[in-house]
Amino acid sequence: MERLMLSRKRPLLEVETNMAALHRRAKMSNSQVRTGEVAGESKPMTDSQRLCQQISSWADPKFSLKRVVEHLKFKHASEVIDLDQSINNKYLEFHRDISEECSPEEKQHSWAVLEKPEEVVMHGPYYPDYAEDVHSEEIVVQKTQELLQSELVSDDWKVYIFTVNSPCLMRNTEPCMLNMVEMSQAWWREFGVKTFIGFKRCWGFKGTKENLFQDLSYGQVDCVDHAGDYTSYLELAKKTNLTPICESIYAVVKNFLRPGNVIFTITKEQDLKPHFKRMSSVYELETEMKKEVFKQEMKQFNEAAQLLLTERGGSFEDHLQRGRSFPLQQHFRKASSNSSQEQVQRLFQECWRQLVQDKYAELVREKLTEDLNRRTVQLFAEDIAELTKEYLQIGRIQFS
Ligand SMILES: [Zn+2]
Repeated sequence: MERLMLSRKRPLLEVETNMAALHRRAKMSNSQVRTGEVAGESKPMTDSQRLCQQISSWADPKFSLKRVVEHLKFKHASEVIDLDQSINNKYLEFHRDISEECSPEEKQHSWAVLEKPEEVVMHGPYYPDYAEDVHSEEIVVQKTQELLQSELVSDDWKVYIFTVNSPCLMRNTEPCMLNMVEMSQAWWREFGVKTFIGFKRCWGFKGTKENLFQDLSYGQVDCVDHAGDYTSYLELAKKTNLTPICESIYAVVKNFLRPGNVIFTITKEQDLKPHFKRMSSVYELETEMKKEVFKQEMKQFNEAAQLLLTERGGSFEDHLQRGRSFPLQQHFRKASSNSSQEQVQRLFQECWRQLVQDKYAELVREKLTEDLNRRTVQLFAEDIAELTKEYLQIGRIQFS
């Protein structure tokens, strides 16, 4: 089969005009269904009308975020989001070809493939231009539109769109995900082609900018962990001067903190020196000579403390235990009196505990955000799957 890399065939302005026209058409037919037959109670809604309704509800991120959070409270976010195996294999094949040809960068980008029975036309990769608020998905959709309009399209052709992160669901303008669903519907109507949207990572509403869990400190997580229910959580939060989180977020965090669920690593890349800096305060009032000896001991200790870092995952308590069993004394012998050795020991335990707490809270925030993003994409895909199954499939690509 012949594979072609595409160069742009039409001026961009014309493409934009075409896009706008197509968009208007898609929107018009959508608004017609919204104001037209839907009003009559006797007629059941068509798939297209229901899709239009779904898209409107997802265009209200506040409402849909609330829905996702409700789902997170009870589900373990392990539902399937992956593409069918045969479609996945196609993506892997295209991905290999485009990697060989243009070796795209790891960061966010998109490309697309127009598959005809006799040839395969690939175009991209396209990168976002965040300064201009242009996402890569917009460009790939535009170029695909351009390509389809420049050809005598047959209804056995297929469009495969790849994007590293799943298309966004929250944005100042229309989110890419909603735009892409509408465009795939328009392509189906206009050209009879099917569209696949495959991605590597679930981006949810706004990916790494998601801030729903950003204020979860260790104290907050610990408070949720120790509370039996929301009422007792509120009491505990008050006692510890914490601004309470809302009941839904409480439930999501509580569900996440199931025993054995929070396993994390404190790995080799971590620079430990700043974390143990406070230990030096023990020698602040000592003589210059003792200070110098202590500095040397601190240096050796910092090297030896690398042993605390390991790729092996552990629970919060496992990590604390590793700190307790660290042979600290053998690094502070020369310059220390008994009382300062005790102080060093106490400060070391405090510093280590602080580090473990920070890492723990960081992991909780990261994992919850990941779960939220995955669940968001899953819920969206589930919402529209039945209504678009004739012409659209959205899912994650399995690369392993
Ligand atoms: Zn986007």
